[in-house]
Amino acid sequence: MLDLLKVNTKKAAEILKQSKHTTAFTGAGISVESGIPPFRGKNGLWSKYDPKILELNYFYEHPKDSWEIIKEIFYDFFGKAQPNRSHKVLAKMEKHNFLQAVITQNIDNLHQEAGSKTVYEFHGTSAKMVCTNCKRKFESEKVHLDKLPPKCIVCGGLLKPDFIFFGEGIPQNAFKKSVEEAENAEVFLLIGSTGLIEPAASIPYKAKYNDAVIIEINPERTVFTEKITDIFLQGKAGKIMLQLEKLLFEK
Ligand code: NAD
Repeated sequence: MLDLLKVNTKKAAEILKQSKHTTAFTGAGISVESGIPPFRGKNGLWSKYDPKILELNYFYEHPKDSWEIIKEIFYDFFGKAQPNRSHKVLAKMEKHNFLQAVITQNIDNLHQEAGSKTVYEFHGTSAKMVCTNCKRKFESEKVHLDKLPPKCIVCGGLLKPDFIFFGEGIPQNAFKKSVEEAENAEVFLLIGSTGLIEPAASIPYKAKYNDAVIIEINPERTVFTEKITDIFLQGKAGKIMLQLEKLLFEK
């Protein structure tokens, strides 16, 4: 019987080989195989924790309570996660000129840890903290979290992770660069995103509007699959990226 996934994976690899400008667009799904669950869904983080800890007002009014959960999720738990095969294959693709940039909605720093150089963090990063008073930024690994909430060593202001909380705007540079990528890409590789979080979800539509070929990897169909995807590779990212790696790099 014809193996449609195999046929489509080969087709995707051929298109990736021919593309002069490919951009990957990643969501929480790419980090699931690193042990980081997505926010929503049955085993999602919000089934265990209350998302109000990431609401700005709540954070300012209850910094200690918010920080106790933030530390547990984003530093104790995320901090132990390692990049998986999908992060590594993307880094290898960039090194060998099969990929020009990664736009990620993730805040876990795993693309950079895998070796990716051009990464636009649409929602910011947990790897840095920002002082809510003087706006100075600090490497998170240099900030002590034994006494909460952490304070700025320069002005004593409250520190906040440098990712966006609910209701905050997208970092300007990441937004601008992501739009440029969507305008320039010949191929857009969507991995592990439901496409429900705006304005991030609008970026692949811009790419499609600019005639990019949309290749999507996800175990489940998404709104992208229904509306803009040209080649849908259904499955876990680790398995599909391994196949793509073989097709791109093995002689
Ligand atoms: P999402 O949580 O809405 O959806 C995750 C998607 O990943 C789903 O479509 C699911 O089918 C897919 N998926 C699950 N396992 C997969 C696998 N093994 N391989 C490939 N895909 C898989 O994710 P989202 O659309 O990125 O939105 C959630 C938002 O929450 C993001 O914008 C992000 O900022 C944030 N978030 C980040 C992290 C992280 O940094 N790792 C984790 C959770 C949430």
